[in-house]
Amino acid sequence: MKDPDLKVLTGLCAKCGTCRTVCTLYPERKTEIAVARGKVALVEAALSGEDADAASVQEALTDCLLCGRCERACPNQVLVEEIVMKGRADLAEEIGIPAWKSVLFGKVMASPAATEAARMAAAAAERLLLAKVPTRSGLHYRFPEGIAGGRTVPELPAKGFIRSLRKREAVSGEAMLFVGCVFDHVFPRVGRAAYETMKASGRTVAVFRDAACCGLPAMVSGDRRSAAACVEENLLRLRSADPGEIVFPCGSCLIMFKRNVFSLIPRSNPLYEDAVFVADRSVDYASFILTAGVVDRLPDPPEGERVGEIGYHDPCHLSGTLGKGPQARELLSRAVGDAFGEMAGADRCCGYGGTFNARDYPTSSRIGENKVSAAVRGGTKVVSTACSGCVLQMRDMAARVDPSVRVVHIAELVQNALSGGREGTPRR
Ligand code: SF4
Ligand code: SF4
Ligand code: SF4
Repeated sequence: MKDPDLKVLTGLCAKCGTCRTVCTLYPERKTEIAVARGKVALVEAALSGEDADAASVQEALTDCLLCGRCERACPNQVLVEEIVMKGRADLAEEIGIPAWKSVLFGKVMASPAATEAARMAAAAAERLLLAKVPTRSGLHYRFPEGIAGGRTVPELPAKGFIRSLRKREAVSGEAMLFVGCVFDHVFPRVGRAAYETMKASGRTVAVFRDAACCGLPAMVSGDRRSAAACVEENLLRLRSADPGEIVFPCGSCLIMFKRNVFSLIPRSNPLYEDAVFVADRSVDYASFILTAGVVDRLPDPPEGERVGEIGYHDPCHLSGTLGKGPQARELLSRAVGDAFGEMAGADRCCGYGGTFNARDYPTSSRIGENKVSAAVRGGTKVVSTACSGCVLQMRDMAARVDPSVRVVHIAELVQNALSGGREGTPRR
């Protein structure tokens, strides 16, 4: 390992062990190497040349959900996620990343046309090859046990959200919706709900079209070149569109533009000012709806119906790192009234962790099943959230634990409330 930043970043660690008490992965692994302190020590050893086995260091750094719980609890403000991501990138330069990841991040996710083609191929394949699993969140398909861990995936739609827009619709506006790949291609109903509810503010709303992926999957996999290419293209296009606000229904996309971008575009980079411009204007969906006047248009929610049945799952970065949990809760209270109730284990990580879910599905699903089971025991029947990865994971886990549990994005609940829906869950 040779990235000089890593020496500075790891140097702040006092090896106090606080991170172990909060680590999402520690209860599963019960080993020091799973937690931030162990990873920091390993990186320090690799930097000093003591541990020359790059593959085992890469394995240890890959075994992390990047949930950030350790970082938020750390008394020394050690930037654990930055250390893990920079370490992965350093090692990817040294020993490479799997070819399929290079193609996915460099060719497919960087190109809207290739992403669309991949979605259509996947939609056809799931209909042909997988078993149908009806759940209260909609139709899903299940892989056979032994293939992809028997995971459940949502039915892919015939058309994504952005392709459903008319040619001249939402081309320019005061506020811009950055819908993200998942809420465009996998759950277009969420993209539509975010768009329609933003329009209820009375402001004109543009939808960011032909967007490259935000770059997060490439970045967390150590492919900084592909991540930077996505980020640079997005920054230039967002800057020239000059929106007053850029609204993100996905907390993962938002953290990319609010925080991670500065790891790729430091002060010395010519695009730094563009990155600051975009970060300053980037807001989470709930904050926009609360401040743009949409809540004033919400009818009074029904009282005494399904009290406490709708919970909120805190996405790690949206609630934890960016502190937007209160905004989501306030919005839910305004939209569904006392049907919203604090969910048991709301701030526990769902276990998705982006590429972690693909890498170690059994562990990811154990963490997720525990989460959904706790929510169900606490009386939650609808899990709402505001991050694309969380929606994917919680739907899969609900299909495993209790298919009667519905998983929705908060925008769907707001849209339902605006349309006078009384049932507290989106109309079908
Ligand atoms: S909590 Fe922070 S300072 Fe303490 S061991 Fe963990 S990373 Fe190091
Ligand atoms: S980011 Fe999460 S999983 Fe990774 S070491 Fe920190 S607490 Fe553990
Ligand atoms: S965080 Fe996920 S959903 Fe959002 S743009 Fe990046 S890849 Fe797409």
